[in-house]
Amino acid sequence: MKSESLHLVLKPGKERSVLRRHPWIYSGAVRHLPKAPAGTIVEVRDAENGILGHGFLTSGHSLVCLMFSFGQNREPFDQAFWQNRLADAWRLRQDLLLGQETSGFRLIHAEGDQIPGLILDVYADTAVVEVRNPGLQLLREPIVTFLKERGIQHIYRRTEQPDTGEWWLGKTPSAEFLEHGLRYHADIEKGQKTGFFLDQRDNRFLLRRYSAGRQVLNAFSYTAGFSVNALAGGAASVVSLDSSARAIEVGNANVALNFPGDPRHSSLTEDCFAYLKEMPEEYYDLIVLDPPAFTKHPKTVEKAARGYKEINLKAMRKIRSGGILFTFSCSQHMDKKLFRQVAFAAAVDSGRSIRVLHELGQAPDHPVSIFHPEGDYLKGLVLEVE
Ligand code: SAH
Repeated sequence: MKSESLHLVLKPGKERSVLRRHPWIYSGAVRHLPKAPAGTIVEVRDAENGILGHGFLTSGHSLVCLMFSFGQNREPFDQAFWQNRLADAWRLRQDLLLGQETSGFRLIHAEGDQIPGLILDVYADTAVVEVRNPGLQLLREPIVTFLKERGIQHIYRRTEQPDTGEWWLGKTPSAEFLEHGLRYHADIEKGQKTGFFLDQRDNRFLLRRYSAGRQVLNAFSYTAGFSVNALAGGAASVVSLDSSARAIEVGNANVALNFPGDPRHSSLTEDCFAYLKEMPEEYYDLIVLDPPAFTKHPKTVEKAARGYKEINLKAMRKIRSGGILFTFSCSQHMDKKLFRQVAFAAAVDSGRSIRVLHELGQAPDHPVSIFHPEGDYLKGLVLEVE
């Protein structure tokens, strides 16, 4: 069999992280790298030729192999194998009891579901696939077969650039789905990421509980998911703010789906840094800060930390006494500890007394392999400002 002859051999001592089930192999750890296209399945061996598991080759120079199976398992990695992986993932989402009130969920969270390089989100009868490793095209057939059997009618494969993907099944410009009983459109072809940020589901729901009677600012609002929840929770007023006109359009459409013509909601297409500078003091008493990842590289973490500190400091200074701040970072390279340090530094400079009410993360349909802590990317704090 072809895969028998394709093996990647590690340098002595470099098997340690693989034995701990970390799925990424970097070129520096490799003694022999087979010459084969990205997506090819290879056997991973230690320096003594012992089998450690199997992975996909990537098209990268630094990260060269993504492992999806550990140990001596030699079962054929065929359609049935991948359909089993998908079925395991589906079962977990059913266990999470998303129920009747929620029809949008992440089915495959890459390493968290043992299919590195693959993201798959479901919005009612539509699925969006993000294939980060070009070779994973081999998963197309098992994915389409599996999803069709579960009633999915449209499948879109997105790429890094919006509007350049392809339809694997059916076609629909946007998909409507439910999240904790509220309605949303996922912006399939033109949207950011897979069209919606499902990872914030439970955090949005939590915000609903804090919203009654409050003046809410939802900064970096995009889909306006936090705004819709604030309105559902009885907020006095809600402002959605995003620098992208397209994002504001998408957000307004979601507000209109649930609260058509509601005079409590307004939106602003503006830069958040500028807005926080000009914003009145003691006006808002519930502020959400959910910025995009300010850094995608470990080298720029420090600069990113300054950005996070700046917006948090402004919000902490200006929020009304007794106000609640929901603050997030989705930068993978800023870990929980650093994020907390940033919030701490902003709190010190604000001169106000601040308490932590909740420590938040991504929803459980974005599971994290304990061996791959990098999968744990979303961090949030709910802070009360005296
Ligand atoms: N909270 C959103 C997701 C936010 S994604 C949700 O629940 O759906 C980050 C958003 O920040 C994007 O829509 C992007 O357009 C916006 N953005 C990026 N830089 C910005 C800036 N400087 N000022 C305001 N918005 C910004």
